[in-house]
Amino acid sequence: KRPVPSDIDISRAQQPKYIGKVAEELGVRDSELELYGHYKAKISLSVLDRIKDRKDGKYILVAGITPTPLGEGKSTTTLGLVQALTAHLKKPSVATVRQPSMGPTFGVKGGAAGGGYAQAIPMDQFNMHLTGDIHAIGGANNLLAAAIDTRMFHENTQKNDATFYNRLVPKKGGKRTFTPSMLRRLQKLGINKTNPDDLTPEEIKKFARLDIDPESITIRRVVDINDRMLRQITIGQAPTEKGQTRVTGFDITVASELMAVLALSKDLKDIRSRIGSIVIGSNNSGEPITVEDIGCAGALTALLKDAIKPNLMQSLEGTPVMVHAGPFANISIGASSVIADKIALKLVGTPLNKNDAEPGYVVTEAGFDFTMGGERFFNIKCRSSNLKPDAVVLVATVRALKLHGGAPDVKPGQQLPPEYTEKNVELVRKGVSNLCKQIENAKSFGVPVVVAINKFSSDTDAEIQAIRDASINAGAEDAVATNHWEEGGKGAINLAKAVIRASDKASEVKFLYDVEAPIEEKLTTIVQKMYNGADIELSPEAKKKIELYKSQGFSNLPICIAKTQYSLSHDPKLKGVPAGFTFPIRDVRASIGAGYLYALASEIQTIPGLSTYAGYMNVEVDEDGEIQGLF
Ligand code: ADP
Repeated sequence: KRPVPSDIDISRAQQPKYIGKVAEELGVRDSELELYGHYKAKISLSVLDRIKDRKDGKYILVAGITPTPLGEGKSTTTLGLVQALTAHLKKPSVATVRQPSMGPTFGVKGGAAGGGYAQAIPMDQFNMHLTGDIHAIGGANNLLAAAIDTRMFHENTQKNDATFYNRLVPKKGGKRTFTPSMLRRLQKLGINKTNPDDLTPEEIKKFARLDIDPESITIRRVVDINDRMLRQITIGQAPTEKGQTRVTGFDITVASELMAVLALSKDLKDIRSRIGSIVIGSNNSGEPITVEDIGCAGALTALLKDAIKPNLMQSLEGTPVMVHAGPFANISIGASSVIADKIALKLVGTPLNKNDAEPGYVVTEAGFDFTMGGERFFNIKCRSSNLKPDAVVLVATVRALKLHGGAPDVKPGQQLPPEYTEKNVELVRKGVSNLCKQIENAKSFGVPVVVAINKFSSDTDAEIQAIRDASINAGAEDAVATNHWEEGGKGAINLAKAVIRASDKASEVKFLYDVEAPIEEKLTTIVQKMYNGADIELSPEAKKKIELYKSQGFSNLPICIAKTQYSLSHDPKLKGVPAGFTFPIRDVRASIGAGYLYALASEIQTIPGLSTYAGYMNVEVDEDGEIQGLF
């Protein structure tokens, strides 16, 4: 058999179609397309207006078992599935996937365009810059960070209220006027005045002084590089800053709340309102301070007005792929954007009056395993978008299940011990409990589940059969071995047929918890029902924050739990299906603009580092301008 070339070699060997052609095949008009070169384009949001009277296509979520350092192949399966659906079974489909951060691209994980013969192409453009959305988010976030620190600087160095107010609301052409965001702030404070000259000294003080508690600020600066040296920094050290120093730090851009806001927003109006309601910290009386209060919600929206449009690319077999948003998979939802899903579902949708028209498919992906990516997909993303998946595909591999069954732990790139490369049905039978728990979890949301057994060359029929038997027993509609990595869409035809059958079954999506329930109860439900834990244990800090959010009126939000991806529990060493553990909650934080609280089970690194030998060391550009060594 011919060996499968590297991902970048496969990507480069395939001449992509002109993106206008992909758009045309998908039914996007020229006037709705904004070209970024030959192979990438943004889709204008106006398309939704034109096709709003269609019934949505089928919505398929690809999620996975508890990850192992071996990689399970969710992105690869997402791409293989749409290639099978559209290029082989002639069903319209769109893959909606996240835009990868350049941090992992140049670190250890590598890209996220899929792999082998199931990829989004050109993969170098997919993995670097794309159309600049992540950079736009970085710019917007850093404008906000600058605005916060500058505001504190001015408030702290100008003690006279009247002078400060005069500078904040200056005279222009002999007249002073409030900006739209100032009017919004006045309204929030209950000051019903529109003429800046009418405010009383009391009102001036209340309006002008945000009085931010520096300890409470949650906005950090961001950069899209794994630059560990920026984890903690001291700002304001130049003499011009008059001693206004502060210890803060950087996060990776995709960990910013703005990225989550981009992923969850429905349209421009929604993103403007979400940005305005982002809470950046509290004032010294414990009241929340928002981006609206800082006065830069409009400017941040302006910086994101193109980023909100989904990017169209294509798979290796020329089928449409939308790449849009990429919030961090641990402290955030780890899913692509609501807008891309909505547009894609209508584009592959059917006329309302034609009940017998065949629907198309939108296949999207949730990061990490089902208990993290999948649970948040339903409880946070779907709750906010009102979109309801018709089926869940759970990706598993023989190798990963062996690890869950007790095979020795491995590191990425390490030579695999014989347990992995030789037939061992016993280990698969033990480890398949993890897959069965994930099937049970996914089914608890009321949707049919199909297991995709992503085939590796060392897998044996007996091992695959063991996974199939256990999956059907656990309630999966089907469990199908799939070979798209080696064969492209052709290798995933059986999987695609199983997904079509499953998504035709009637289903009724149920959420795991009521958002109105107390925070502690929501946390306990997720831990007990999804992770198989016994109970939660709240640290004093977590208790304090829960009380704060209750008092600020933020307790009725869904919750994202950030924990290790390598176990159902909080302990990465516990494989398979651990039971009886008490799950620690160290802290609870709020992403009010995005619309959820997040709880931390451990110290989560929000800006990764680079290893001694890192991905970037391989990368070169040849004389023709072609990139080499990107996986
Ligand atoms: P995930 O989305 O679960 O993180 P990816 O789809 O990104 O996983 O795949 C991780 C890596 O594993 C990629 O480099 C991909 O090329 C490789 N891979 C995926 N499936 C296979 C397979 N069946 N055989 C060999 N390599 C694979």
